[in-house]
Amino acid sequence: MSALLLKNARIDDYAELQDLLLEDGKIAVVAPAGTLPADRASESLDCENRAVLPGFVETHLHLDKALLDERMPNLAGTLEGAIKVTGALKSKFEMDDVLTRSRKVLDMAIAQGTTVIRTQPDVDPIVHTLGADAMLALRDEYRGRVDLQVVAFPQEGIIKAPGEVELLEECLRNGADVVGGCTYNEVDVDTCKEHIQQVFDLAEKYSVPVDMHCDFQVDDSDPRYALVEYIAGVTIERGMQGRVTLGHMTSLGALAGQHRVEVWDRIKQAEINIVVLPFTDMHLNGRNDDHNVRRGLAPVKLMWDVDISVGISSNNVRNAFTPFGNADLMDVALFLAQVGHMGSPDDFRRLMRTITYANAKIVGVGTGYGTKVGDRADLVVLDAPDSPTGLLDRAVRTAVIKGGQVVARTEKTTQLFRR
Ligand SMILES: [Zn+2]
Repeated sequence: MSALLLKNARIDDYAELQDLLLEDGKIAVVAPAGTLPADRASESLDCENRAVLPGFVETHLHLDKALLDERMPNLAGTLEGAIKVTGALKSKFEMDDVLTRSRKVLDMAIAQGTTVIRTQPDVDPIVHTLGADAMLALRDEYRGRVDLQVVAFPQEGIIKAPGEVELLEECLRNGADVVGGCTYNEVDVDTCKEHIQQVFDLAEKYSVPVDMHCDFQVDDSDPRYALVEYIAGVTIERGMQGRVTLGHMTSLGALAGQHRVEVWDRIKQAEINIVVLPFTDMHLNGRNDDHNVRRGLAPVKLMWDVDISVGISSNNVRNAFTPFGNADLMDVALFLAQVGHMGSPDDFRRLMRTITYANAKIVGVGTGYGTKVGDRADLVVLDAPDSPTGLLDRAVRTAVIKGGQVVARTEKTTQLFRR
């Protein structure tokens, strides 16, 4: 088995430069720079004092719906508009088209330093299991370049979509890793609760984690968007603590006072992960406000203050839900810094720790993840001396390493001319 020597790396923002020997897919040795004999490796890569971090982890990415923006725009700009436009487009989905667009986004993500992706393909009476089947095929095709986890995601709801449970079960039997949910697409709070119970039934039956979309509003005045305490109760009753992730959760931004304290406590007791998707959350929310437009973003800094498990992810890339994005988690993190009142080097470092360590824990790959001896050799080299500078510079990802092998290299050259 070949071994790769990474030289002069500034690992996880430590001051001293170090060398890493990568062997058999793992980090075999970490030593002060210049102290490892070069003949221990068949290949070497000089990081030249650049920051080296563990590979980025994307917890939430709809590959099947990516890159549809030019086919039909979402003129209303709302969530309902996005679901309608995408519903019309996906009724014509074909396997080759889904695979081609997904591959483009996977390649973008890998080039930007991502080594693990959880993807949420729509599974519903419109596309049936086509999207999930495509993702399961891509999971095999991309093995060794990126680890793909597949969530069976009921975008069109469960109770209002006849046959949905059977479709989700088919995906889980075929190897989907996680069961999804989408409560906001049910018509009232009772059917939302029934939806949640059915998702947890499937999680128990197939021994998989839960990853739900369950909220998408600027406040919780509609009871369908005030279900986090209910979900926390179900999580605890069913012994699923630490295995439930809720995406968006934008109504949390409207909580205040004692009620907020109670909700934070409940989320923590149930060990629920909250994933913030700022590109989509801010693009689709607040559309009915004609002044003082609300942000529609879960309050990340407040949740950090009380030690809630928070992830940051892309959600969509250039479609009716989100007409932006390059599948670049650093781009998402920088955007969150800009809109989330985060401006200190500590904030920047925390954001970078979120798209790495926190996201890894959320998708269940936190053990053996990192830059220590024995960890998986999934690494990204930033063209920057440390992670906060890398974030601000939108640093080029000089090299991306998966399982000890280089899977992407990027170089950027600028020439300045005086005249
Ligand atoms: Zn989503």
